[in-house]
Amino acid sequence: MRVDVSGKQFAFPRQCACCGRFPGTWLTISGTERNRNSKTRGWAWDIPYCHQCRTHVRVADRLLIAALSLVALSGVGSFVALGLGSAWYVSLAAFLLGSALASIGVVWLFARLKRSQFVGCVALNRSVRYLGSSGSWHSFDIRSRTYVSAFVRANRLKLVNASASIRSMLREQEMSEFQVARRITRGPK
Ligand SMILES: [Zn+2]
Ligand SMILES: [Zn+2]
Repeated sequence: MRVDVSGKQFAFPRQCACCGRFPGTWLTISGTERNRNSKTRGWAWDIPYCHQCRTHVRVADRLLIAALSLVALSGVGSFVALGLGSAWYVSLAAFLLGSALASIGVVWLFARLKRSQFVGCVALNRSVRYLGSSGSWHSFDIRSRTYVSAFVRANRLKLVNASASIRSMLREQEMSEFQVARRITRGPK
């Protein structure tokens, strides 16, 4: 679920962003912001995770990178083979074979990884992502429903453009008097 918050310092609730258990560690996400003078500034936030979830997130990240580089490598390999004079269909077949092997390997390893994750995990990879910034507000994508509602409640005064479901999370907490700021964006003239 997408959450827009204004400011730089946000309270990330002290629970694992993936499974909701007690967090013993964290994973850093970073974002950039462009101010009026077009200077880019970077920001980083530490998202709490438990040790087990941090492990599966890291393994999943690495697996995807490895698979992508394998596909790229087989692409380069078949291109070189083509340059060395082998027939185009042989190179194409080699490339497709390499890509197919990479995807089969990823699917198999992800299935194995899935067995090692907790029952309460929301995802194999990161459950909190940075989507980008607009002016002084930052957007996050949070996959765990319990973590979203904890985050929304902890940062309720910084929420911008809250969707109906986010507002209902505030209502559940009987904070109906809270107002959520909305940015007025001027359309192109
Ligand atoms: Zn966890
Ligand atoms: Zn997890």
